[in-house]
Amino acid sequence: MSTAPLTRETFGHEPIDEYEGTPEGDKGATHIVCARCAWWTRWPDVGLYIGVHVPWPCTSAIVLGLVPREEAAQ
Ligand SMILES: [Zn+2]
Repeated sequence: MSTAPLTRETFGHEPIDEYEGTPEGDKGATHIVCARCAWWTRWPDVGLYIGVHVPWPCTSAIVLGLVPREEAAQ
């Protein structure tokens, strides 16, 4: 999926469909998130970091001007 502008540096901040290739996606559902940004939570019991992608557009994408302001305001 490449909806990000090719002429602009995205620094990895690009919209991806987290449901792509999943049963939910096959049913037509979408869940657009930033490919780079994630909230990381540490689970000390298991010694793991669990990352959850943030909804698109992320703050960095807005600051970089990767999304129209109108879209960002929603
Ligand atoms: Zn991002």
